[in-house]
Amino acid sequence: MSGNESRVNAIFEITKAAPPETAMTEPLSKIWASDVFGLAQMEESLSKAAFKAMKKTVQTGEALDAATADVVAAAMKDWAMSKGAKFFSHIFYPMTNTTAEKHDGFIITNSDGGSITEFTGSLLIKGEPDGSSFPNGSLRMTNAARGYTAWDPTSPAYIMQTANGAVLTIPSVFMSWTGEALDKKIPLLRSNAAMNTAAQKVLSLMGETEIATLNSSCGAEQEYFLVDEAFANARPDLLLTGRTLFGAASPKGQQFDDHYFGAIPERVQVFMQDFEDKLYKLGIPAKTHHNEVAPGQFEIAPYFEAANVAADHQQLLMTLMKNTAKAHGFLCLLHEKPFAGVNGSGKHVNWSVGNATQGNLLDPGSTPNENLNFLLFCGAVIRGVHLFGPLLRAVIASAANDHRLGANEAPPAILSVYLGDQLEKVFDDIKTGALHVPKDGGIMDLGLSQILTFKRDPGDRNRTSPFAFTGNRFEFRAVGSSQSVSGPLVAMNTMLADSLEWIAGKLKAELDGGAETTAAVFSVLKEIMETHGNVVFGGDGYSTEWHEMAVKERGLKNIPTTADALPAFKTKEVIDLFSSTGVLTPAELESRFEVYAEQYILSLEVEAELVVEMATTIIYPAAISYLTSLEAVSAKLKPSPADAVTEAANAMMASVGALSEALEKEFDSIEAHMKFLADDVRGLMDDVRSAADTLETLVPDSEWPLPKYREMLFIK
Ligand code: ADP
Ligand code: MG
Repeated sequence: MSGNESRVNAIFEITKAAPPETAMTEPLSKIWASDVFGLAQMEESLSKAAFKAMKKTVQTGEALDAATADVVAAAMKDWAMSKGAKFFSHIFYPMTNTTAEKHDGFIITNSDGGSITEFTGSLLIKGEPDGSSFPNGSLRMTNAARGYTAWDPTSPAYIMQTANGAVLTIPSVFMSWTGEALDKKIPLLRSNAAMNTAAQKVLSLMGETEIATLNSSCGAEQEYFLVDEAFANARPDLLLTGRTLFGAASPKGQQFDDHYFGAIPERVQVFMQDFEDKLYKLGIPAKTHHNEVAPGQFEIAPYFEAANVAADHQQLLMTLMKNTAKAHGFLCLLHEKPFAGVNGSGKHVNWSVGNATQGNLLDPGSTPNENLNFLLFCGAVIRGVHLFGPLLRAVIASAANDHRLGANEAPPAILSVYLGDQLEKVFDDIKTGALHVPKDGGIMDLGLSQILTFKRDPGDRNRTSPFAFTGNRFEFRAVGSSQSVSGPLVAMNTMLADSLEWIAGKLKAELDGGAETTAAVFSVLKEIMETHGNVVFGGDGYSTEWHEMAVKERGLKNIPTTADALPAFKTKEVIDLFSSTGVLTPAELESRFEVYAEQYILSLEVEAELVVEMATTIIYPAAISYLTSLEAVSAKLKPSPADAVTEAANAMMASVGALSEALEKEFDSIEAHMKFLADDVRGLMDDVRSAADTLETLVPDSEWPLPKYREMLFIK
């Protein structure tokens, strides 16, 4: 296709598209978790003893014996085959935010050439994909490239319906041959265990006698864009990088705020229904959906679940969302900033920790005792964010998320904690000593449950904070829409484990010294607030005053780019944090730094190369063709349109030259490479874009080759 033919075709395709048919859906009771081999399924198909062993593993993470694994494998295979599955797959989560799988048949042939099926406990437990192509960071050098997958029995297996049939899908960890974590699941499981150990210590010191295993929970709100596939197919940038590298602003964008919570376009409703039914079949509790701020932008939020299961479900949700969108003629964009000038997409990670005996420890509860436990856990979070703010920034760092953070549409690149007025006052009063311990030394009722059960209406909350307390959980709001939730969950669980360990030590010393419980808790919290209270901030996180104050007066770090953020993984504090909690060894941590840095470099280089190519081979020719058509008349027109076009075209190609040259540069270190991309290459890409976007406003609409923002942003 030439000139603007593909754009014209796209517009034609979309206008002639038939109105969507509303899908017929089945009742929830019929489809809910129908494709999941969960506890209910197991109870039906396993012996009492096997079921009991399996249930214990699911609930406490305790290892399963080989005999039970065999029984479970047989039952799983029968169940899967009854659903039409001929293949099984260990699904795993490499360090790259993606999901990976390899399919194996149940089939084996016997000596007569007949076929039988086989699936033993050892096949269930261990798989051996060829791990050599997954980024391993430095671990690649020290080990054979071989990687193993191992079944995670705490996350249920399920049937994935694919274009080539049903596949029994087994959530797994992925490790190197020497047992090092190569994935996002192993550290998540370890971080949960570390948090549990430390929390148990604190709760016992608080006099709790029965303490069930603690687990972290996660509810992730996922934002995304939908674009008509016909438009996307005419935009190499959307197809290759997930974002528009060019595009002049649409006269109408989000300025009317008419999209947010507005009526959902009919085609999108049909898509959502189809998508949510698929989620329900897989036991993913889709709960809320609505339009987001930007045109073409939406959100889906499943109900929260145990962090490990929620993380697997999140990955599955992203896969299903993309596939289902395709079937409905959309390209689903999970990129953090697909369109300049309108809001980008995030993923708010709602996080809490709790167990069956004490409940949610981030819920103030209604008894004085619960209030104190809550204050300690909350204090632990405050300490953690203060000490490890740069780590929290590093785990959400990506080339794409850099477009959002600090851009006044998303939380700033400075990590602070929002507590809400009432809770902030309680902590302040503890710090200043205004809150007195009762004279009789007894446990005092802080009445937190009453003051904190505020209505969760959006106006009440601080949308400008990256890390906000929202009544019974913290909401990490700065996570990017395409990111795995595991990185943030690992960081939060681990910093909490570290803080709870510290608290346990202090608390024990106070109690051993004869202090009453309330006095001991207040003393520990006072120290936390004196040392770490600087991280608590209730004001406007977008304001320039905060950016100044945070850095100059509070000593917090403003970390604008991934190049600045990732080196946090190499700091002594972070290395110590992960090794002391047993979550990541120094080698594992180092390998993560390398993988993330490489991802950053590759994604910016792909973008930059595509900018050069699109400017040179799509946009420049459009300008030349227009200039050629003007030749006969341009001398007569005042001012001549040719002058402005020539000027913009020359400016664009000058920047293309500078950008191409920059891409040739060589570097001594990965850090220097990242820094150059962040500080120089991004600017050069912006220069090319700005001239190209000027051309878009000069070249006749009928000749512009790329679908425009005003066309793509509004779903027909
Ligand atoms: P918002 O008003 O912030 O947009 P949503 O309802 O869209 O709220 O999403 C809130 C998310 O927080 C949901 O996934 C919800 O299940 C989750 N959530 C609620 N309580 C908890 C909790 N205790 N721990 C973790 N996540 C929670
Ligand atoms: Mg929401």
